[in-house]
Amino acid sequence: MSLSSAPPLPTNSERLLILASSLIVAAILSIVAYLLIREHAAAEQAATRAASNIVQLIDSDVLRNVELYDLSLKGLISAAQRTDLRQVPAPIRHLALFDRATAAPFKGNILLLDPHGDVIADSASVQPRTDNFADREYFQSHVDNPDPGMLISRPFRARNAEQDWRISFSRRLSDADGRFLGVAEAALRLDYFNELFKGLDIGHNGSINLVSRDGILLAQQPPLADNLIGRDFSQRPNFVRILREGNGSFSGISSVDQQQRLYTFSQVGDLPLIVIVALSTDEVFGSWQRTALLISSATGLLCIALLWMTWLLCRELRRRHSAEQELARLAAVDALTGLANRRTLDQALNSEWARAQRTLLPLSLLMIDVDHFKNFNDRFGHPLGDQALRAVAQNIAACAGRPTDITARYGGEEFAVVLPGTDSAGASMLAEKIRASIEALPAVSEQATPLTVSIGINTWSGNPETCLEDWLGSADKALYLAKSSGRNRVVSNMSQGRCKHGA
Ligand code: GH3
Ligand code: MG
Ligand code: MG
Repeated sequence: MSLSSAPPLPTNSERLLILASSLIVAAILSIVAYLLIREHAAAEQAATRAASNIVQLIDSDVLRNVELYDLSLKGLISAAQRTDLRQVPAPIRHLALFDRATAAPFKGNILLLDPHGDVIADSASVQPRTDNFADREYFQSHVDNPDPGMLISRPFRARNAEQDWRISFSRRLSDADGRFLGVAEAALRLDYFNELFKGLDIGHNGSINLVSRDGILLAQQPPLADNLIGRDFSQRPNFVRILREGNGSFSGISSVDQQQRLYTFSQVGDLPLIVIVALSTDEVFGSWQRTALLISSATGLLCIALLWMTWLLCRELRRRHSAEQELARLAAVDALTGLANRRTLDQALNSEWARAQRTLLPLSLLMIDVDHFKNFNDRFGHPLGDQALRAVAQNIAACAGRPTDITARYGGEEFAVVLPGTDSAGASMLAEKIRASIEALPAVSEQATPLTVSIGINTWSGNPETCLEDWLGSADKALYLAKSSGRNRVVSNMSQGRCKHGA
C-alpha cells in the first residue's frame, strides 16, 4: 500500500474557482464591449443627425430662393408680354421688368433673350449688354420644348472675368399659339453657398461641399485644399457612391487629404446639386475614443486584478490541499517505522475482508512479534530498541513486495502483513522469508544482539462460516503457538473457521 504523497493536482474547488472567474471576466468583457459598441453607434447616429439637419437647412434655404427666382421670372415674362410697356421710357420699363428682389449680391443677372438668343433686357443695366446665349443648353431646350415650366440648368461657368460657377433658372416666352418668343433667365452664383456654409459650425477638420450631379465640386467650406473648385470628382470612390445613392450617409477616407470622414449627403431640392457634409471621424468619435480608452484600460486592470486574485486563491487552496494531504498521510502512518499504523491497518483489514468475501479469493494474515524484545530494551535501552524496530519494519516491508500487500505496525514490537489473493502456501513462504531475513539481519550496533521474530499465519480460503474476528483470532493463536513452541518460527493455523464453532 503506497502512502507517499502524490504531486498536488488541481482540486475541484480550484477548477470551479478558475471557471467562475473566467466566466466573470468574459462577462465583464462582453458587457463593456457591448456598451462601447452601442456608444459608438450612438455617437455616429448623433453626428449623422446633426449633418442631416445642416443638409435640411441648406435645402430649405435653396428652395425658398428658387421660389423667389421663379416669381421674378414669371414677373419678367408677364411684364415683357404687356404691349403698353413698350411705349414707356426705358428706365421705367426696366423698373417694371425687374423687381428689387433680384438685386441680392449672390444672384447673377436676370436676362430676357429674344428668339435668337440675343439679350433684349438686362437686370444689371437699363441698356442691355450685347451678348448672345443661343448656345446655352437651357436656351436650346426651350426652343425645342413648348413646356412653359421652369428649367434648372446644369452648373456652368459664367462668361465674365471671374468665370465663377452658376446655375440658371429659365422659362420660355411663347405667344398665344405657343410659338417661341424667347427666354427669361436668372442665374444663381454658387458662391452663394460658400457664404451660406461659412455660417455653419461643423467642427474641426470637417467640410460642407456642394457638388453637381456630374461630380464637379462647386463650393467647399472650409476649403480642404487650394484649387479644388471646378474639379471633377466623379471617379473618386466616395463620390461614385454619393452620386449613385443621392441621399444617405457613410464613413470613408477622403481622397484629398486621406482623412477618415463621416459623409452625409442629400440632393438639394430639385436642383442638380448635392450637399455633402463631411465630418471628421476624429471629431465625431473623439469623445467616444477617450471614454473607450479609459473604460477599457480600467476594465483590463480589473480583469487582470481578478485573475491575479484567482491565481493567489488557487495557490493558497493548493497549499492547503497539500497540507491536508500531508496531514492525512501522517495520520495513516506510524511515526517510528513509516509503515501503515494501526488505524490504517484496521481499515485495510475491513476492506480486504469485504473484498475477499465478494471475490472468494484467499486472504492471508501474518502476525509478527519480535522475540524477547523486552529483554532487548532492558539491556540496550530504548534508543537502540527503536533502531532495531525500524530495521525489522524495513525488512518486513521489503519482503512483502506486491503492490496489494499491506504491511503495518500492529503496536509495540508487533507487526501485521495482510496478503490479499495469497493462499496458505504462499503466505507460509513469505513468512519464512521474513523470519529468515530478520534472523540474518546484523545487530543494529556492536553492543546489541541480533533479533528474531515469531510469525503466526492464518489464511481464509472461502469458508462462508468464518467471520473477521475468527480470522484475526486464529492468526493470534498461531502466533501464540509459535511463541510457545520455541520462538523464531512460523506457525500456520490450519484450523481457520472452526475456532468459533468448535472443532
Ligand atoms: P516475547 O518473546 O514473548 O514476545 O517477549 P517480549 O519481551 O518481546 O514481549 P513483551 O510483550 O513482554 O515486551 C514487549 C516489549 O516491547 C515491551 C517494550 O519494552 C517494547 N516495546 C514496545 N514498543 C516499543 C517501542 O516503540 N520502542 C521500544 N524501544 N520498545 C518498545
Ligand atoms: Mg508482544
Ligand atoms: Mg515480543
